[in-house]
Amino acid sequence: MARVKSEKLFREASKVLVGGVNSPVRAFKAVGGAPVFIRSGKGARLTTEDGGRLIDYCLSWGPLILGHAHPKVAAAAAAAVKRGSSFGAPTEAETRLARMICGAFPSIELMRLTSSGTESVMSALRVARAFAKRDMIVKFAGCYHGHADSLLVQAGSGAATLGSPDSAGVPKAWAETTINLPYNDASAAAEAFLKWGERIAAVIVEPVAANMGVVPPEAGFLERLREITKRHGALLIFDEVVTGFRLSWGGAQKLRGIRPDLTILGKIMGGGFPLAAYGGRRDVMSLVSPLGRVYQAGTLSGNPVAVAAGLAALEALKSGKPYARLDRLAADLAGGITREAKRANVPLRVQRAGSMFTVFFTVSPVKDYESAKWADTAKYAKFFNILLEEGIYFPPSQFEAAFLSTAHTEKDIEKTLSAVRGALERL
Ligand code: PMP
Repeated sequence: MARVKSEKLFREASKVLVGGVNSPVRAFKAVGGAPVFIRSGKGARLTTEDGGRLIDYCLSWGPLILGHAHPKVAAAAAAAVKRGSSFGAPTEAETRLARMICGAFPSIELMRLTSSGTESVMSALRVARAFAKRDMIVKFAGCYHGHADSLLVQAGSGAATLGSPDSAGVPKAWAETTINLPYNDASAAAEAFLKWGERIAAVIVEPVAANMGVVPPEAGFLERLREITKRHGALLIFDEVVTGFRLSWGGAQKLRGIRPDLTILGKIMGGGFPLAAYGGRRDVMSLVSPLGRVYQAGTLSGNPVAVAAGLAALEALKSGKPYARLDRLAADLAGGITREAKRANVPLRVQRAGSMFTVFFTVSPVKDYESAKWADTAKYAKFFNILLEEGIYFPPSQFEAAFLSTAHTEKDIEKTLSAVRGALERL
């Protein structure tokens, strides 16, 4: 697919937008070339500014579980905007959405709507610190929780060392409130609690990691985190920005049967609009302003257009029925890619959880960030670019999840597998 117009648009964008984009991974640095500029999307297809049509497995990085411009979501948003785009005053629809979310996630007794996952995580950590009256946070390397300062942190060497900034501009002192441990290593968490237990407010984790590529939790990992946090009086926070309403109506916590103290949601619950949430135990969330002394606010929080879209999206998922089909389609695609790789003798593994998966160019199991880094990123870049030429849009980085939507069809999977076969032969 020629990208002449996208290249031109990217040059123009780069004159006025940092790096030509409004979020770094969109710049295609990990796969090379100019990013594809999108004109429109419908169902599982994107139309590019170059006139190409792509089967989309990136889906705005996860929110679009119903595909692009789903008729009911689009209609709900359009109707809402006609009634007024923002009031900065409560609307009934916010309660309906919150009730729906609390129904899906029994661990969420009280919640707050925000505009992004980052904002929700940042706020949840503030509440956790206020509740526990402690400052430190445990996170896991390879998990992404947005770009709040205390989360842009590199691992120290081992559980006993504090983190250091992973971004310029993050104060060292803030990074030192974070302990960054290997994913799937509950023993490291236990060790960290032995050393810092009295100072740790919360453990935050993606219950299925999606931000180093898809890495499911090993048996017992989340259970042990639940047990350790409880024992030490720290909160367990599940960041379900990706997995919430993606893996099931009720997210990863429902599938794994674990009740976190706080949950972060985003992406799918906003139907493709800027909407996110944090919530959980009533006693913890009651600390948030105006009930309590933890300040957190937002001009556009619970925005009526976003809430209308979110309600329409969740309405379409609430029966739970779409999940079985999504799972089957994803299994067909993942299984097909694995088969084609064997045939072409290309070392790769597909890691999948429900309708999210990653094609890792490595054969050894990826269980944490260290093992993810073994993946051959140059091979992924080549694979990505060949697929793009064939009209298939995978995430433009080895360390991201690919997603399916209810708009994808068996035919799309077949077409994708045929392109994958060609790509693997050319690697
Ligand atoms: N948490 C997780 C697990 C995420 O994947 C992301 C973004 N991909 C965020 C938080 C941050 O969300 P946002 O980009 O809406 O700020």
